[in-house]
Amino acid sequence: MTSDATTSIRADSSTSVADAASAEPREAGWLQPLFDAVSSYSVDPDETAAAGLDRSGTQAIGTPTVVIYARSVADVVATLAFANTNRVSVVTRGAGSGLTGGAVAGAGEIVLDLHHLNAITDLNPVDGTATVEPGVITADLDRAAAEHGLFYAPDPGSVELSTIGGNIATNAGGLRGAKYGVTRDAVLALDVVLADGRHLHVGRDTVKGVVGYDLAGLFVGSEGTLGVVVGATVRLLPRPAGQATAAAYFDTVETAARASVALATAGVRPSVIELVDGKTLEAIDELRGSALAGRGGAFLLVQTDGFGALAEIDVVAAVLRRTALSVDITEDAAVAATLSAARRDALPSIEARGRVLIEDIAVPRSRLAEAFAGVAEISARTGIEIYAFAHAGDGNVHPIIVIPGDGPLTSVPPEAQAAADEIFALALRLGGTLTAEHGIGLLKRNWVEREVGPDARQLFRTLKTLFDPNGILNPGKSI
Ligand SMILES: Cc1cc2nc3c(=O)[nH]c(=O)nc-3n(C[C@H](O)[C@H](O)[C@H](O)COP(=O)(O)OP(=O)(O)OC[C@H]3O[C@@H](n4cnc5c(N)ncnc54)[C@H](O)[C@@H]3O)c2cc1C
Repeated sequence: MTSDATTSIRADSSTSVADAASAEPREAGWLQPLFDAVSSYSVDPDETAAAGLDRSGTQAIGTPTVVIYARSVADVVATLAFANTNRVSVVTRGAGSGLTGGAVAGAGEIVLDLHHLNAITDLNPVDGTATVEPGVITADLDRAAAEHGLFYAPDPGSVELSTIGGNIATNAGGLRGAKYGVTRDAVLALDVVLADGRHLHVGRDTVKGVVGYDLAGLFVGSEGTLGVVVGATVRLLPRPAGQATAAAYFDTVETAARASVALATAGVRPSVIELVDGKTLEAIDELRGSALAGRGGAFLLVQTDGFGALAEIDVVAAVLRRTALSVDITEDAAVAATLSAARRDALPSIEARGRVLIEDIAVPRSRLAEAFAGVAEISARTGIEIYAFAHAGDGNVHPIIVIPGDGPLTSVPPEAQAAADEIFALALRLGGTLTAEHGIGLLKRNWVEREVGPDARQLFRTLKTLFDPNGILNPGKSI
């Protein structure tokens, strides 16, 4: 299955009311009421161009009209009220670390940058909650929790870059997802500004509650298309008492994948199960000066935590030793941190070698080895170079498709898109999904209906219209 041709990242075939914003000609000075209403903004073309990019490598056509730097909820309310009245589209931005073009903005659009809204307004160890502004960096929240013996579990590879607002909007996952789940599992309540400027509190600050529909859940993963998250109450957990790590090397990535699956029925619950293929190990070695690739054709990093961490890692090691070339166990936090950092460098190390299209499929974890084998088969048959690494405990594989050439991508070349399309088809064939944690953004929209079907997609659009009748919020993204 292939896409139509070289696809402009803006030229998605599906249109809706949401795609209609920003088309009208404007009179001189029309933005002045917005400038008067907000604390801080820039129309400098270099600054607006930079504010319209994320880490997907894609680029919109033209540069955004203005970037608003929100310093209060009032700034967000004023921006959305202005945009809604004037039918201008608004692209909300956290840190711009997204990988699917969700925060990419182009001509005629307003970028609403939230990174200055970065206060942790409350941290309650008894309730096990933190209340935060959306621009808080994910790792900063975890460090603040650590001062109280707690931790914030969702830890995307970008934990030092990404914001909690962006994590919520993409339902980000992370390395600890194998045991602690994804951002959705940590969100209790949200403060949201709707497209027309209404500010509301959804969800609840209690651990349990069942009044009405789960509106907070609806905003998680909505990629800035339903409202702007201006605050969140999230769950904190006791910081695990101990940690143990197993570093295992295998001859092939399929063998490593099967070993990771064997852990599922071994009576253990590792917090981290990360798998890296041989090509990615070579890229990591190149970036970090390490020597991982020499130890095997695939690397599996497994961590256990809590009071029984060491006993649990012994069970893990026994399972892995059945098929591994070698397995090292350590309780040394510094060694574990180095191995985790190497895994977190998987994507940057591939990016350092050239341009890439980053994919994010998930399959039922019992089918993980088939997913890796399928990606390798697509690569061999098409001649397209593809790296792969995985949050193996979640069945979440990141095939990274190499795009020859330099410079930003204004379109995805047809060969790369064809390989991506085959990967999406593989995921669906194996009972999986197009995107586990990065979101649809601009890049995967053509595949949404093939996964969810026409009725569900129509329902998505009906909901979008209900929340954002003028289609100003991140038009052309996600649904
Ligand atoms: C090296 C690297 C490793 C990564 N590893 C992971 C990983 O392990 N797991 C993972 O899930 N992701 C990963 N990512 C992707 C990325 O970091 C996540 O998608 C992250 O959640 C994006 O956060 P952000 O603040 O940068 O959001 P942005 O990129 O600024 O925005 C992402 C989307 O959210 C919307 N948005 C942002 N803030 C708000 C808000 N307050 N209200 C409403 N909408 C909003 C934007 O409009 C956009 O659609 C990685 C990225 C990099 C560069």
